[in-house]
Formats: sequence, C-alpha cells, structure tokens
Amino acid sequence: MTRAALAVDLGGTELRAAIVEETGAVSAFAATATAAAAGPDAVIDQIVALVGRVATERPQIAPVGLGVGAPGPLDGEAGIAIAPPTLAGWRDVPLAARLEARLGLPVRIENDANAAALGEWRFGAGRGTRSVVFVTVSTGIGGGVIADGRLLRGHRGLAAEVGHMTIAAGRERCACGALGCWEALASGTALGREAARRVEAGEAPAIAARAAGGAPTARHVAEAARAGDPVAAGLLQAEAVWLGIGLVNLLHLYAPERLILGGGVGEALDLMRATIEATIAERAMVAYRDVPVVAAALGRNAGLVGAAGLVL
Ligand SMILES: [Zn+2]
Repeated sequence: MTRAALAVDLGGTELRAAIVEETGAVSAFAATATAAAAGPDAVIDQIVALVGRVATERPQIAPVGLGVGAPGPLDGEAGIAIAPPTLAGWRDVPLAARLEARLGLPVRIENDANAAALGEWRFGAGRGTRSVVFVTVSTGIGGGVIADGRLLRGHRGLAAEVGHMTIAAGRERCACGALGCWEALASGTALGREAARRVEAGEAPAIAARAAGGAPTARHVAEAARAGDPVAAGLLQAEAVWLGIGLVNLLHLYAPERLILGGGVGEALDLMRATIEATIAERAMVAYRDVPVVAAALGRNAGLVGAAGLVL
C-alpha cells in the first residue's frame, strides 16, 4: 500500500489540505478561505473538516500522520503557534496537540517557510543535496535553511527569518517595525512600491497601463519587463541587486550547495539571474561564488509537500 501523509498549509488568506505520497506526489487536494479573523477554535474546526474531505477522497490510503505548515513565529518542537500576525487571536496555541486530539493521528507543525524549504529539499530543487537555503520572495521574504542534512530550527523554532536581516542603514521601514530589513527593500511589496513611485512621476506608462488605474504590483513589473519595457527591466535589475546582496549574506552564513528562489517574485528569476550572479561575483568571497541560484520547483505545493515530509 502507498505510504502517505495528510498535509495542511495554513495561510492567512487560504487554507489548503492534501494527501501527499512518500514520493512527494499530491494525490488529493482541497482549499478554502481561512477564517483568519474568527480565532483559533474556528480555524481548527476548518482544518479538521478540510482534512476529512481529502481523506474521504482516498479511502484506500491510511495516512501516517498530519503535517501542518503555519505562519510563524511558532515552536515546531513543542507544536505551539506562538503569535502568527496573520491570524487574529492566536497566542501560544498548542496546535499540534489540539489537532491530535481531534484526529487521532500524530501531528507535527512547522513554520510555513521552513515547511516549503523542507519540501524543496526533499522533493524539489534541492533534491540530492545536504545543505540548501530556500528563499521565498512574495509579499514578504521568508526562508528556511537545511544544514548538514537537517532543518535548522534554532531557539523556539525562530531560525532563518531571513527577511529581517538588516541590509541597509536608514532605508525603508519594514512591516516588523525595524529599518532596512531585506524584506523592506526586496519583497514584492517593495518592488510594487518602487513601481508606484515611477508611475506617480509619470515615468512608467507601460507599468501604469498594466495596473489599469490600480496600484502597480511586482507582477505588473515582471509582465512589463517580459514585454520589453525598459523601465520595468530597470526596476527588476534594482530588485535583483537587493536580492543578490541578501543572498551573499546567506552564502557566507550557511554555505549551501544551492540557493533556491521561490515565491511570486522568484518566478522572474530568469529576468534577474544575470544581475543576481553579478552581485554575488562582486560581493561574495571567492569560495562561494560558484554556488548556483536555482528556481524553486514545486511552486505553491512546496509548503504542503514539506509539511507531509514532517511526518513521512
Ligand atoms: Zn523586518
């Protein structure tokens, strides 16, 4: 019989569940909007219902457990969601124990970026390596580190909050409250903000056209760059320099065999690769310069597949 696990990706807007086989294949899937404002009891009810739905789709499979990727900060060892900013009313919720009591299965939880890193390492772009750094660049910047064949967790599971490395002095304010975080300079939100500045100055008609009167996003910038717009291409090159600077730090700290880039902005890696590599060549010590920067392979499924990997 196929060995498989239940997996949940608990996001602030969407809750997704799947059955994942030990090969990493997703064999049943369901999603719903997260009742993020309704507090932990309502969300735990949602998880139990959604997991039940995918389990009934594959009655022939007896899952070995449930893995959950959830927003940090959380303590994976203790199974506790500490204070996820995207879920209202969550404070030190013993999520793993509460789900175990409801489902009668072993439950492991991990922060979503770490779960995605595990997924890419075991089943995606990091397969076959012992040390990788995974970075996801979308609304924010998150990441996970696999070092010497295991996930680096750190005290209270808080290791590898790579988006909050301080990258520059006296620059943009981050959502975390600090100044000059990598996330404040290189996230999709930051790229959209730079694009908005150019649009407001009347310098970016191609991006303005794609935004159609709304706020320009990182996606609009990437689309315009792909269509040959030089302003969008310039914004992406500036983005690539900021990404490269952060990646240089991660190379020196963790010595990965590969750097894996995911998330919505990561999908434009082909447009940024030359500048990222030039930034690494310029700033990294010689021994680190040949480490490849590769695109994430699992897309939005990385977190689900990695969550399953917690119990498989
Ligand atoms: Zn920050």
